[in-house]
Amino acid sequence: MATIFTKIAHGEIPSYKVAESEEFYAFLDINPMVEGHTLVIPKNVENDYIFNLDDRTYLGLCAFAKKVAVAIKAAVPCKRVGVAVLGMEVPHTHIHLVPLQSEQDLDFRKEKLQLSQERFRQIADSIRSEYEKL
Ligand code: 5GP
Repeated sequence: MATIFTKIAHGEIPSYKVAESEEFYAFLDINPMVEGHTLVIPKNVENDYIFNLDDRTYLGLCAFAKKVAVAIKAAVPCKRVGVAVLGMEVPHTHIHLVPLQSEQDLDFRKEKLQLSQERFRQIADSIRSEYEKL
């Protein structure tokens, strides 16, 4: 059975899309730690542990995440973009990209932001437009 992230990558479940390539997809985390918190996934590989990916997919995912991080940094006020990989909840490899003003911004225990659909859309649009310039 397809994972929820496979369904998101193929448009069967809606998401706030940030960037897409033939093999990879980036979208806003629905329970963001900060504005611009983004998830990056392989579209067609459901392996649930990043270090079990084949090298080609792993390196492609990292290169795609790097480009998305550059777009996030340009679109969202932050000092840098932090990276985390957990996979404790969704069994489909994903990289968290989190715009940081301080180290406290990357804390999975803290209460998540509640954003309106309109705000999610604005953030996704601004990251996507920076991505399209790269
Ligand atoms: P992890 O598996 O890395 O521990 O956490 C999974 C992440 O995926 C969480 O930050 C959670 O908010 C996010 N997430 C789970 N389900 C959905 C979903 O349906 N849509 C989006 N956009 N994010 C999700």
